[in-house]
Amino acid sequence: MELADRLKRLPPYLFAEIDRKKREVRARGVDVIDLGIGDPDLPTPPHIIRALQRAAEDPETHRYPSYEGMLAFRQAVADWYAKRFNVRLDPEQEVLALIGSKEGTAHMPLAFVNPGDVVLVPDPGYPVYAAGTWFAGGEVHWMPLRRQNAFLPDLAAIPAETARRAKLMYLNYPNNPTAAVATREFFAETVKLARSHGILVCHDLMYSELKFDGYEPPSILEIEGARETAVEFHSLSKTYSMTGWRLGFCVGNASAVAGLGKIKTNVDSGVFQAVQYAGIAALTGPQDLSEQYRRTYQKRRDIVVGGLKALGWDVDIPKGTFFVWAPVPGRLDSRRFATRLLEEVGVVVTPGVGFGPSGEGFYRIALTVAEARLAEAMERLKGFRLERLKGFRP
Ligand SMILES: *Cc1c(COP(=O)(O)O)cnc(C)c1O
Repeated sequence: MELADRLKRLPPYLFAEIDRKKREVRARGVDVIDLGIGDPDLPTPPHIIRALQRAAEDPETHRYPSYEGMLAFRQAVADWYAKRFNVRLDPEQEVLALIGSKEGTAHMPLAFVNPGDVVLVPDPGYPVYAAGTWFAGGEVHWMPLRRQNAFLPDLAAIPAETARRAKLMYLNYPNNPTAAVATREFFAETVKLARSHGILVCHDLMYSELKFDGYEPPSILEIEGARETAVEFHSLSKTYSMTGWRLGFCVGNASAVAGLGKIKTNVDSGVFQAVQYAGIAALTGPQDLSEQYRRTYQKRRDIVVGGLKALGWDVDIPKGTFFVWAPVPGRLDSRRFATRLLEEVGVVVTPGVGFGPSGEGFYRIALTVAEARLAEAMERLKGFRLERLKGFRP
């Protein structure tokens, strides 16, 4: 069967080599510690599961849901935004339920990008932003995220002609994979640029609740005028350990929300209502367990950051997300570093280049394994003899 060009033009899957190696090393009987997977290991809080069970018993939830989400769910989202960010949203016009935020981020270009239009995409970044752009026939303009710029895109470096042709811009702070955070000043600059060029900013706020040391990640919608030009994507996946449940939402600019909704009426039929009731329970119910999860991730972060520093490896202390992003020691190639780490000490990290060319020189550790395993991984790193590797530069 001949694949369509849009699939053929997707870049090669850069983690294939690591995946193969992982199977190979496991087959040798090695107890592999996998720090590659960005999927919470902590269970969904029980009161959310009970809400799903109760709702699933009610035959009313078994029918087709409304495509835009139950008003009660959208109201819960609006109330949560008011409480968390002091941003007032109209649940009818400015909130849309999604089958996970990935679904919405991928579909957005279908609503607003014509073939040949430019979409501004962070590099390194979540691969869905570029894939969604290409599926809509758009052209990706990569915005490199560099450490010397705190992993924020340099908006002034976007050529004027490119900015003029751009229809959409993706941002994601706290960021996957770099764990960087953005300031309100940066968002204000972004809003200014976007408004002057008519660019729709799609901010992926997935990690707003995985925050450490008292830091509070802002919403771009807190910025004056943002609502004219921006939407935000969020979901319950990471905050409440609900990745398998598929429940997210898009909020902000009413015409952007309506445009995405129009795509969705043509491709899906909304989120199972029992899952939406569970989402209401998550957003409006007790937050003590997600608070505890946050502390758990923070402790894990400290084990990893402490472990890397003890080795003399360079690392920034993340203020959010459940990732640690660090420069590959000895300036080695990130894929070779990850492969050798796996072969020699049985620890999987993700090579930065897998998230885009500007990720080269870095690797990502996911804090989604128990403390004891992380501590063991750090212990194993002590036995990893970097200086023997080809290309090592102290
Ligand atoms: C995990 C993740 C997502 C996916 O979220 P879902 O709501 O589960 O679809 C989206 N964006 C980023 C940056 C992520 O890391």
